[in-house]
Order: sequence, then structure tokens, then C-alpha cells
Amino acid sequence: MARRILITGVAGFLGSHLADRFLADGHEVIGVDNLLTGSRRNLAHLAREPRFDLIEHDVSKPLFLEPGVDGVLHFASPASPVDYASLPIQTLKVGGLGTHHTLGLARRHGARYMLASTSEVYGDPEIHPQPEGYRGNVNPVGPRAVYDEAKRYAEAMTMAYHRAHGLDTRIVRIFNTYGTRMRPRDGRVVSNFIVQGLRGEAMTIYGTGSQTRSFCHVDDQVEGIVRVYHCRRVDPINLGNPDEYTILELAALVMEETESPVPPVFRPLPPDDPVVRCPDISTARRELDWSPTIGLREGVRRTIPYFRGLIDGE
Ligand code: NAD
Ligand code: UDP
Repeated sequence: MARRILITGVAGFLGSHLADRFLADGHEVIGVDNLLTGSRRNLAHLAREPRFDLIEHDVSKPLFLEPGVDGVLHFASPASPVDYASLPIQTLKVGGLGTHHTLGLARRHGARYMLASTSEVYGDPEIHPQPEGYRGNVNPVGPRAVYDEAKRYAEAMTMAYHRAHGLDTRIVRIFNTYGTRMRPRDGRVVSNFIVQGLRGEAMTIYGTGSQTRSFCHVDDQVEGIVRVYHCRRVDPINLGNPDEYTILELAALVMEETESPVPPVFRPLPPDDPVVRCPDISTARRELDWSPTIGLREGVRRTIPYFRGLIDGE
């Protein structure tokens, strides 16, 4: 049955892919975004789509819509560490006030609610890989706290609306995801390395490059998110690709795929940068029958033409 789905952060990387997926599944999508870190370019192909509307609005302020929204997916938030370091108050507000307002909207409409949370709720983890039951190791006053604590508050607020008001809620803890529609200079490692490789610039490795991340292609991530939306589990679910790489390994792979001959350079490690990160996805495997299917090399190959197109157009 066709539904009206409201997606905040719709002009961003994940939000725009989710809009496409919900439209492809036959639903109507109301997108909300204030274009803080997103781009109209990510939605240009929907200009003539009658089942899509964009509302330009800051969801840190209340939003009132005519009744009839069936689902709310709250994806608005700066997500790159460089973005949230330069937008600290906006990040706290959209995770705190934005979550509160969108929960209120969902309650008023009797809609299902999904929160985009993050592996950052685990901070610099002491347990590896990270299962949902792990409570994390977050520095509440470090530079990453504006994002990590906003998301932890957002999770608590989502569970409070579920418990106090019986709201039908979902929480996805998203691990590093990459693909088309990321901003070329958003500061995240995959977009940085691909753009640097294509421009013939040295890849910037922070620290020794021995820190690890586990990279999930956007197509796998969107499939996981949709499955969580349609499942019955209220408790958080990790979504990510458990194949773990050091940043040095990632740089070597992207150098090969972009045919970059320039050796990488080393830069200082930002404070509180997690040493390791890898999702335990046994809950998603068990409850959603979901696991990623796109390996890192294949995913990077699928992403390079998008960045090449942007660079050629500059
Ligand atoms: P993004 O920066 O590409 O998109 C975020 C979008 O939210 C942008 O379009 C931005 O303009 C919008 N936005 C920010 N503040 C807003 C506000 N106050 N009102 C309205 N719109 C606002 O980031 P992304 O990678 O697409 O991340 C989307 C969501 O997924 C975020 O909530 C992020 O925390 C979460 N997430 C992403 C990843 C990842 O690897 N991509 C990992 C963990 C969690
Ligand atoms: N990183 C790097 N070079 C870059 C950008 C990032 O070495 O140009 C490192 C960063 O220090 C971190 C990892 O890559 O250890 C992933 O960074 P990203 O910003 O993508 O997201 P995070 O997982 O830290 O939230």
C-alpha cells in the first residue's frame, strides 16, 4: 500500500538515496532539508516527480504539516567529522531539538518513526566488533561529542516516545557508508581519497593509518534501512559492512582504482579519532536476513565515475 513518507536530510547523501528507494517502492516522499550540508543537485532528477515534494526547513524548529504522514525518517544531521566540527551547535540542535520535533510530528500523525543513529554512539570502542548491547566509550567534552552525544540523546528521546506514548519507533546505528552523492570535499575518508586520487593529489592519511574502519556501500545500506523500517524491532540495529580495513589499506586500494601514482602524505590524527570500528551485524542477519553484498573494491569502482563527473564539470 502506498504511504506518505517524510524524510529529513533528504538533500544529503543517504537521504536522497532513501527518497529514490521509497519512490521506487511506490510511496510518496515529502523531503525536508535546510541544505546545510546537502545539495539540490542530489534531488535534481526528482524535479518532475509528482510523488516528491521538498520543504526547505530547519528541523531544529517545529514543523507542522496537514495530517496524513505515515512514516518519518529522521536523517538530518551533519555526518562528516569535518562538518560537525565546523557546525557544532547546529549538530547538537538537529540531533536534540530536531529529534524532539520530528518525534512530535510522528506522534501527531500516528506515523512510524525511524532515527538515523550511528556507530559513533560507541565512541572509541573497547569491545570489538561492536554489538548493539555495547554501551560505548564516548568523551562527552571532546570535539566529536557534539555528534556522538546528540545521537545518544536522540536514541534516548526516541525510546522515551516509544515507552511514554507508544510511538512505533526504529533506531538504525549506521556504520561508515560511502557512495555516489557524497560531497567531494566533505572530509570523509572515502570521498577525500577518491577525489585526491582523481586529481593526482597525495592522499592525506591521518595518524599512522593503522586505525580501522568497515565500509558499507550505499546500496547495501539503503536495503538494510528499508528492512529495518519494515521490521518490528524497536531496539537499535547495527547496519554496516563487517569487512574491516586499515586506512592505509583503503588508501592503497583507492590508489590502484584511481591509478594515482602519488604517494600518500601523513597528517596529525584528529583528537578522539576511534582506533578501531567494525559492526557486529548478527542482529541484522538474524532479524532482517540482511548482510552486505558489495565488497570495498567493487563499491569504490561504482563510486569513482560519480566523482570523476563532478571534477570534470568544475
Ligand atoms: P549528509 O551531510 O550528506 O546529509 C545530511 C543532510 O541533513 C544534509 O542534506 C543537510 O543539509 C541536512 N540537514 C542538516 N541539518 C539540518 C537541519 N537542521 N534541518 C534540515 N536539514 C538538515 O550526511 P549523510 O551521510 O547522508 O548522513 C545522513 C544521516 O545518517 C545523518 O543523521 C548521519 O548522522 C547518519 N549517518 C551516516 C553515516 C554515513 O556513513 N554516511 C554513518 C552514520 C550515521
Ligand atoms: N581519514 C584520513 N584521511 C582523510 C580523512 C579521514 O586518514 O583524508 C581517517 C580519519 O582520521 C578516520 C578514518 O579515516 O580515522 C575515517 O574518517 P571519516 O572522516 O571518514 O569518518 P569517521 O569514521 O572518523 O567518523
